[in-house]
Amino acid sequence: MTACSPLLSPWAVLDDAHWRGFFQGLDSHLQAPAFRKLRSLAHQARQALNDLDAFMSRYCAQTCPHCTDVCCRTLRVAYNVTDLVYLWGLHEALPLGQTRRNDTDPCRYHSSSGCILPRHLRPYVCTWFFCEAHMQLFSLETPRFQRHVLAVLQEMRRLRSAMYETVRISFSTGGTKE
Ligand code: SF4
Ligand code: SF4
Repeated sequence: MTACSPLLSPWAVLDDAHWRGFFQGLDSHLQAPAFRKLRSLAHQARQALNDLDAFMSRYCAQTCPHCTDVCCRTLRVAYNVTDLVYLWGLHEALPLGQTRRNDTDPCRYHSSSGCILPRHLRPYVCTWFFCEAHMQLFSLETPRFQRHVLAVLQEMRRLRSAMYETVRISFSTGGTKE
């Protein structure tokens, strides 16, 4: 990825072979004002994810140990380009790589005690996806709590779109890093 190349689609998934190269491209070519904006947006997104973590972890503690179809093993969950842009904006140690090397592998971050990554470093689909068991628990929450969660998810949608657009515009204007 060069300063003049367009950013891949927000939903594109890169394999392990392109993982480092993507971040190197951002490091080399993302303009400083765009990075500052990205960083601010990413930290807002991190806060929103932390807000969701408590009840989602509670749901997992109640359901995942008894689950017979563990999503982290069977679904092909992966980081997409928007996830990678967000991770870069956090400016902290990056996960080792894509969730799996081959389609049939379980997620590399899955352990016998659950996910080894803090929520804010997981692919966003790991947070917005509610399995049936979690939907059932969510349906028992108060309407006020449900509205709060839906508002946070809506805010995440806005933030993710803004992060992606920040990088896309920076790349399409083709300036150089300050
Ligand atoms: S999140 Fe749902 S589908 Fe995934 S392991 Fe837990 S109970 Fe099973
Ligand atoms: S990153 Fe964590 S939560 Fe997401 S699929 Fe992998 S093990 Fe599961």
